[in-house]
Amino acid sequence: MNDLTQVIVLSQMDYKENDALIKVFSYDYGLMTFLAKGIRKINSKNRSICMPYTISEFMFNYHESSQIQSLLQGQIIQTHHRIHEDLSKSGTASLCVELVESLIHDENDKNVLIEHFEFTKFLLNQIENKSKMNAILAFMLSSYMNYYGISPHVDSCVLCESTKVNSISIEEGGLICNECQMEIHSPIYSIEFLKEFRLSQRINKENFENYLNYKDVSNELILLLVKFLEYHTGVTLKSWEFIRKWSIMM
Ligand SMILES: [Zn+2]
Repeated sequence: MNDLTQVIVLSQMDYKENDALIKVFSYDYGLMTFLAKGIRKINSKNRSICMPYTISEFMFNYHESSQIQSLLQGQIIQTHHRIHEDLSKSGTASLCVELVESLIHDENDKNVLIEHFEFTKFLLNQIENKSKMNAILAFMLSSYMNYYGISPHVDSCVLCESTKVNSISIEEGGLICNECQMEIHSPIYSIEFLKEFRLSQRINKENFENYLNYKDVSNELILLLVKFLEYHTGVTLKSWEFIRKWSIMM
């Protein structure tokens, strides 16, 4: 009896001469690794279904005792070929799969996994079809901060609740008011930027289209959100280093 599962291909790693190990996010099983034999041969029929960021259906024999499943065959549900042709899209997509992978690593709750599966699909579709990568990044980073439970405090000063804010402190976890700023010497930002920061924490799937059309999201905001996320999770985002190194967005 063969098993079928819908997957989001996260990454591909060369293995032996012609094979590859495919890491996927499966709708039914969460994180999984497949051995795809002969996939690096040019005429391999499984080549396209294993391309990173592709949504595919994989057929395999499930072995519960094994860490790695053998891929038999499958079919494409959705290609994301534009992501591969554009450096800023592929940088954004690799950050997306890195974030979701670290988040679902130890997750066993089926409903939580399905929510993340659908959200990852949504993000990859946006990356494929839209051009404003900074807006997608802002939504992505803010959503993951929310999933990690480390969203910045943006309603008032994180220290005293005053609403006369002029600063942001990553260490304190949010907006800082004029008076507290004088004590902790956190960096002062323009009103525009504080607004942009606050707005980034209000994006959801429903208002995302409006956010995309609202105005261009600054690189400064993305940089701050990345620093915020890294500081409060202790995670170092490898794909962000890649994005920075190749100056794709900075
Ligand atoms: Zn304060």
